Amino acid sequence: MIAADVFSALGVIPALPGARCRGKYTTFDEAAPGEDPAVVEQRHRQAVSLCERCPSLDRCRTWFEALPPRKRPHGVVAGQINRGPEERESRPRGRPRKTVS
Ligand code: SF4
Repeated sequence: MIAADVFSALGVIPALPGARCRGKYTTFDEAAPGEDPAVVEQRHRQAVSLCERCPSLDRCRTWFEALPPRKRPHGVVAGQINRGPEERESRPRGRPRKTVS
């Protein structure tokens, strides 16, 4: 889901003239279940690159950062990768344990 879709779903549609994500949904979406992590990383890198050249980046970032973290859409928005719970849970939590040698 891209920023413009989220805005629509919330009934809030900020103007995002020239949004580079328009029509490129799959590049910005969060990882699909079972999707190859290398493919996800590649398309998210591409999405971040598009955000960096987006004329609406500042406006998009302001909106995104004003949302409570739990309401932020997953995937790439405003040049940031916001991982969904499935992606976060696959990573180890906390600091690595110290090993006793
Ligand atoms: S900054 Fe990125 S997510 Fe936001 S409108 Fe532009 S391309 Fe879309």
